[in-house]
Amino acid sequence: MDNSPSDPLKQNNKFGSKGGSGLLESPLPFLNDPEGDRVPDGLPPIVDGHVHLFPDSIFSSVWKWFDEYGWPIRYKLTSEEIINFLLARGIRHIVALHYAHKPGVSRDLNAYMAAVCNSNQWVSGMATVFPGEKDAGKILADAFKSGLSGVKLHSHVQCFDMNSKSMEEIYEVCTNHGMPLIMHVGREPKSPAYPCDPYELCRSDKLERVLKNFADLKLCVPHMGADEFEAYRRLIEKYDNLWLDTTMALADYLPVEFWPELSEWRPDRIIFGTDFPNLPYAWDREIKNLVRLNLSGDSLARILGQNACEFYGIKMPVVPGKGGRYAKTNR
Ligand SMILES: [Zn+2]
Repeated sequence: MDNSPSDPLKQNNKFGSKGGSGLLESPLPFLNDPEGDRVPDGLPPIVDGHVHLFPDSIFSSVWKWFDEYGWPIRYKLTSEEIINFLLARGIRHIVALHYAHKPGVSRDLNAYMAAVCNSNQWVSGMATVFPGEKDAGKILADAFKSGLSGVKLHSHVQCFDMNSKSMEEIYEVCTNHGMPLIMHVGREPKSPAYPCDPYELCRSDKLERVLKNFADLKLCVPHMGADEFEAYRRLIEKYDNLWLDTTMALADYLPVEFWPELSEWRPDRIIFGTDFPNLPYAWDREIKNLVRLNLSGDSLARILGQNACEFYGIKMPVVPGKGGRYAKTNR
């Protein structure tokens, strides 16, 4: 793939991946594109709404998987190094995600995330749970009590059916505690190395059932819902409880034939996020590409920071000072 930066959002109204057989049939390349020392000058405040933090041993397994099946990881950093890296470059707030890949490990992972995030007011940590595991609701309620401020689930890794009884329990706990749920339920990036077929589990009409049945649940789907872009664009028009994040959708990297034209999407429902540190390209690649889209100042401010603040409950300073970071809200 050409690694020169280019307009990632093609002037085309067709959507979809090549053939629908999955984007990760074989590992994708490393891009040695240049990186900046800081976020570019003159931009509205930036919140990274999609950063991964794990204990070192789990990061090692995750990276081994990516090296074999996904793409080479450019930033093999520890959780603490990740936080310092992004804040030092001018990111105002970090939303930190992780996920339990099997039952029985959520409590330990949540305790790790809470310890990392409670010592840093610029990082909001999401809880994890394995859908259907024993005491799933209690695990989440305890995680919220410990300081975590939402939930992250990943259907490709956890193989859940979003319309199942065990998921209803999770939707109810989140709704009752007023906590947002970020849930990877788009079909891509599909890999044959996943334990289940996301093309069977993840469909936009199944998500629509959740949006209808749990109208008070705040839901975010990463990667702009890849690759059912047109369906997701309609869903955010129709449902006020759905947000999408831009993670990897602005990078001009994944071999999707036609990325969505962002200016045509509802700007108050799009959250900027990167997937840092699990990236094969420069940490600021997507910020630079987003700027090139020439969105209105209001849309850019919303996408880069305001929407994440509203969705994740992050306090925006009354007067955003230069270099001023964003703190968590005490719920
Ligand atoms: Zn991610």
